[in-house]
Amino acid sequence: MTTQTTPMVQTRGLRKQYGGFTAVHGLDLEVMPGEVFGFLGPNGAGKTTSLRMITGLLAPSAGEVLIHGCSLAKDPLTAKAWMSFIPDRPYIYEKLTAIEFLRFCGGLYGMKKSECARRIEELLSLFDLAQWGGSLVENFSHGMKQRLVVASALLPRPKLLVVDEPMVGLDPRGARLIKQIFRQICSDSGMTVFLSTHSLDVAEELCDRIAIMHHGQVVREGTLASLRSDLDQPGERLEEIFLQITAEEDGNDSVSDEALIRDITTAGGAG
Ligand code: ATP
Repeated sequence: MTTQTTPMVQTRGLRKQYGGFTAVHGLDLEVMPGEVFGFLGPNGAGKTTSLRMITGLLAPSAGEVLIHGCSLAKDPLTAKAWMSFIPDRPYIYEKLTAIEFLRFCGGLYGMKKSECARRIEELLSLFDLAQWGGSLVENFSHGMKQRLVVASALLPRPKLLVVDEPMVGLDPRGARLIKQIFRQICSDSGMTVFLSTHSLDVAEELCDRIAIMHHGQVVREGTLASLRSDLDQPGERLEEIFLQITAEEDGNDSVSDEALIRDITTAGGAG
């Protein structure tokens, strides 16, 4: 008899319609526990819409989401208690100090006060914010706010972390810190990360598996190695693979922006 692992995230025929426009067409995905799974795609591909449905912030027009086997529609409190969501912009109550904000988040997850206090100390230090714990969030830089939001998401030790554009607005040091922490927590605790990103470097460095989304559909999915071999381009960087796949889907033969620029410039800029 084989034992089957329950996926951490499973979507079945997930669809979102805005009036007559379909932003996401029947998404069928499985992300296994401990995986770092990345959604890549050009602007408007449907990444944020999908993440918002997976986290229960947006009701799907059709289909369903299971979080570790639990239906998000039927038992939202259980499903949401296992996950944290980091949106693309850090929304924080600015009139709270960092510690007050983290305590507030711990309260939402029903954490015990003593456990919460221990975690807060640990996370402030991990995210280089220990000396700012008592300072008002309104005085924080964008990068500090972003690090605080990530700390708040990790506070309840989620099984699943869903992240929309994790590195936006972070300087290289902040971005490296966040990447290292995600990787370490996934390998130490088996946390699953589901992230959307425009940064091909982030996807290449962090993700075990990647889904490329275009016009509301997953057009390719697999490990970086399998995407490379599908395209018969063993040495290619993800950037080339991404450009080729999205150009194919648009029905373009050319994938190169340089070629496009050359065409425009050799045409003498005539229009
Ligand atoms: P980006 O990388 O630019 O953030 P994305 O891949 O996250 O893009 P979404 O934000 O999911 O894309 O948007 C997918 C499509 O759905 C876009 O064409 C967008 O204009 C449309 N859309 C999103 N939200 C709404 C809404 N509330 N009403 C109507 N259309 C919407």
